[in-house]
Amino acid sequence: MDKPREESLGHYEMLWDCTHCDTKKLLGKTHRHCPNCGAPQGDAKRYFPPDADKVKVEDHVYSGIDKKCGSCGAAQSSKASHCGQCGASLGDAKAVPLTTQPRPAKRKSNLLWYVLAGILVFVVLIWFVCIRKKEIEMQVTGHRWAVVQDIEEYREVSEEAWRNEVPSGARQVSCSRKQRSTRSVQDGEDCRVEKVDKGDGTFEEVKKCTPRMRDEGVDDDFCRFQIDRWAKVEELKANGAGLELKAPAVPASKIQSGLGARRAGERRVTYTLDFHDGKNKRYCEVGEGTWKKYTDGQKIKAKVRASSGELVCSEL
Ligand SMILES: [Zn+2]
Ligand SMILES: [Zn+2]
Repeated sequence: MDKPREESLGHYEMLWDCTHCDTKKLLGKTHRHCPNCGAPQGDAKRYFPPDADKVKVEDHVYSGIDKKCGSCGAAQSSKASHCGQCGASLGDAKAVPLTTQPRPAKRKSNLLWYVLAGILVFVVLIWFVCIRKKEIEMQVTGHRWAVVQDIEEYREVSEEAWRNEVPSGARQVSCSRKQRSTRSVQDGEDCRVEKVDKGDGTFEEVKKCTPRMRDEGVDDDFCRFQIDRWAKVEELKANGAGLELKAPAVPASKIQSGLGARRAGERRVTYTLDFHDGKNKRYCEVGEGTWKKYTDGQKIKAKVRASSGELVCSEL
């Protein structure tokens, strides 16, 4: 988050109320004494005026937070060496306490607790229904395998790509504009005005603004073209029982190179174990290592879901 842009809107008088004669809304900087009864500002708490009672301090020179006289409590300029009220030295006098602008109180809500409780119930439910397991005894009854062998042909295919990613060798390239990404652009700013007690009987109004951002689409050329590629054209399949795989035979290519030539592509093998748990037949698709680990007729302990009885194949 960027630091907000700050702009001073000027200095204004803080206000105080005379506790002697009960005169209200006296000026914090101008009235060091009550103009009505002469009582010092002293311990009176300064406060921010409502907007209607704001009094601007023109050409304000700020020299620091007022000091509070240790003997009589009068607020004195930070530059004064002795209290104008009682004459006491201000050498070790402390700064006057600052007033802070009340912020709108955050609404307290139990919603967070309801959400957390809801999530907890959901997690327990998921565990109870889907994760909880128990162990059962089963016998391995057989091994099965299935092989899928891709056959590829070098041929002309249609492809699509962004203009800068179109490969060399592409033919019949035709492009149109399309949104490729987004970028964040500034769309005005959000501002608020804060009152800052300067501690010398005045406060400053500061306007703080943060940029408001919006996403904007960025277009680019999206192209369709023809190109020569090795492409999958056929799948040869074989399957069987037992531990010995018989892969499908790949026929020799009639054309050796260029368009129309053929070759063996990717080969995928699926390994399946069959079981009997005393009542039902079950099976698992497993990795090659797990498939070879067990022998037919072997008794094993296997995990099943406690709720559904479903076999947990990943824990074999
Ligand atoms: Zn007074
Ligand atoms: Zn004093």
